[in-house]
Amino acid sequence: MTAKLKIFILGGGTAGWMTANLLAKAWEKQGVSITLMEAPDVPTVGVGEGSTPYIRRFFERMNISESEWMPKCHATYKTGIRFTDWSTTPGFQHYFHPFTTELDNVTFNLFKHHVSLRRQGLNIHVHPDDYFLMTRLANNFQLPSSNDFVKQQTFYAYHFDAKLLGDYLKNKALEQGVSHVEGKVLGVEKHPNGDIAAVHDQSLQRFDADIFIDCSGFKSLLMQKALKVPFISYGDTLLNDAAVAIPTAAEKPYCPQTLSAAMPCGWRWKIPLTQRTGNGYVYSSSHLSAEDAEKQLRHSLGADSETNAAHHLKMKVGRNTKHWYRNCLAVGLSQGFIEPLEATGLQMTLVTIEQFITHFEKGKYTNEYQDNVNNGINAAFDHIRDYVSLHYLANSRNDTRYWQDCRNDIAISDSLKRVLEVWSQGGDLEQELNQQNISQYYPSLSWFAILTGMGIYPKTCTVDKKEIERFHKARANMASFFNNYITPSGKGNSAQQHGVVRYA
Ligand SMILES: Cc1cc2nc3c(=O)[nH]c(=O)nc-3n(C[C@H](O)[C@H](O)[C@H](O)COP(=O)(O)OP(=O)(O)OC[C@H]3O[C@@H](n4cnc5c(N)ncnc54)[C@H](O)[C@@H]3O)c2cc1C
Repeated sequence: MTAKLKIFILGGGTAGWMTANLLAKAWEKQGVSITLMEAPDVPTVGVGEGSTPYIRRFFERMNISESEWMPKCHATYKTGIRFTDWSTTPGFQHYFHPFTTELDNVTFNLFKHHVSLRRQGLNIHVHPDDYFLMTRLANNFQLPSSNDFVKQQTFYAYHFDAKLLGDYLKNKALEQGVSHVEGKVLGVEKHPNGDIAAVHDQSLQRFDADIFIDCSGFKSLLMQKALKVPFISYGDTLLNDAAVAIPTAAEKPYCPQTLSAAMPCGWRWKIPLTQRTGNGYVYSSSHLSAEDAEKQLRHSLGADSETNAAHHLKMKVGRNTKHWYRNCLAVGLSQGFIEPLEATGLQMTLVTIEQFITHFEKGKYTNEYQDNVNNGINAAFDHIRDYVSLHYLANSRNDTRYWQDCRNDIAISDSLKRVLEVWSQGGDLEQELNQQNISQYYPSLSWFAILTGMGIYPKTCTVDKKEIERFHKARANMASFFNNYITPSGKGNSAQQHGVVRYA
C-alpha cells in the first residue's frame, strides 16, 4: 500500500469505536486516516453488558490493562453463566456453564467418564456443577488468582457498563488520531462499478473514503440498505425478538457470574457491575406484550426495581449473507445478531475486524480474500446460533405455550440434528464435534455442560454396585482436590473490588 488508506466508519456504538481502535492500531505504522460519524439523535443500543473470554484479545491487542479500563467501566469479572429453571427434571433445574481453567482438564476427563457411564444407563447422578473449579469458585463468590501464570491458564471474561465502555473506547480512539464527526448520513453515492464512493450528511457534506465500515446498528444503512446485501433471519430457530432492561442496586459482594433465569416467555439476565446490577428480560413478542414483559421482570426483581425506568428494545436476530462486500465491511449489529443468551455480540464484532485486517493485508489491500472472510464468519454465526438454540430445544418446561413452541416448533440445522443424534444414540460426542469442526466455536466441555446440566440422559436402568462404589470414591477424591484450591473464607471475599481472590 503506498497512498494513505482512508476509512470512514458509520456509527459510534461499541462496534464503531472498537473498530476504530483496532484499525488505527493495526495500521499505525503505514498511516491510515479514519473518520467516525455518529448521529447525536440516533442513540446507541446501550445494552450488552456481558462478554466471552474472547474479548480479552481486544484489550491485549490494544495493550490496555485491566486496572486501567475496568474501574472506568464499572467492570467485574465473569467466570461463566448460571442457568436456572430451564429444565424441570429433578436434580437438573440449574447448572453452571463455566469458563475453564487448565486444572479442569483433570476433572473434565473424570466428568466424561462418569457421563459415559450415565449415558450407558448406570444409576448415578452426574451433574456438571460437581466437576469444575470455576463453578466451585463462583459459588464461593471467588475468582481465580491474579497471578500471571494462572491468568494465562484460565479463561474468564468481564461484565461492564456498555455506555461507559463506549465512552472509554471513544477516548482511546481519539487519542490515536481518529476523527470524530457528529452528523446524520442521509445519502450514499456509488462508483459506476457499484462500490461506495461517498456518503452525504444532513447538510449535504460529502465524505469519501477507500473503505466504508457499516456500524450503524440494526438499520445496517450501508450493507443492507445501500448495497442490498440480503439478511437471513434466524426467527425460525430463535423466537426471542425483544428485551426490556431495568437496573437495580449493586450487590456487594458480587457473584462473578451472569445469571440466566428462565421466565414464562423467555429468560432474564442478572449481571453484576460495581455500581449497579444490570437486569433484562429477553422474550418473544409473539408470545408476550412489552407491557407484560416489564411487569414480569419487575415482579421478579421485587421492590428494588420500582423507581428505576425500563428500557425497551427490539432485536433483529439473524445475519447478513455477506459481511465484507465491495469496499464495505459491516461490523456489529449491522452484520447480524444472535440473541444475547451467550453474550457473543462483541466476540463476533472482534472476530470480524480481526479477520478483515488479516485478509485485507494478505490480499495486499484488495478484496482477494473476501469469500474466505465471509464464509468463516457465516459459519461462526450459524454454529453459535445452533449452540444457543439447544438451550431452548432441551427445555422441559410446560408452563406456557412459549416453552412448548421452543421445543416443538423451531427449525433445527442438519449440523445440530447430527450432534443430537450422536448424543441420543450413545455415540462419541467429541469425535462428532471435531469432525464437524464445531469445537472451535464452543468446546466439547460447553456441549457436555448443557446436555448433562439440563439432564438430557437416557432413563437409568442398570445398577452395578462395584461401578457405583468406584464412582463415589472418585467423587470424594475430587472434592478434596478442589479443597486445595479454594480459600475457606468464601462469601464476602472482595471479589467486588476487582482485586481478585486467590485460589489458595
Ligand atoms: C437486548 C440486548 C442485549 C445484548 N447483550 C449483549 C451482551 O451481553 N454481550 C454482547 O457482547 N453483546 C450484547 N448485545 C449486542 C451489543 O449491544 C452490540 O453488539 C453492541 O452494542 C454494538 O452495537 P452497534 O455499535 O453495532 O450498534 P448501536 O449501538 O446501535 O450503534 C449504532 C450507531 O450508529 C449511529 N447511526 C445510526 N444511523 C445513523 C445515521 N443515519 N447517521 C449517522 N450515524 C448513525 C448511531 O448514532 C449509533 O452511534 C446485546 C444487544 C441487545 C439488543
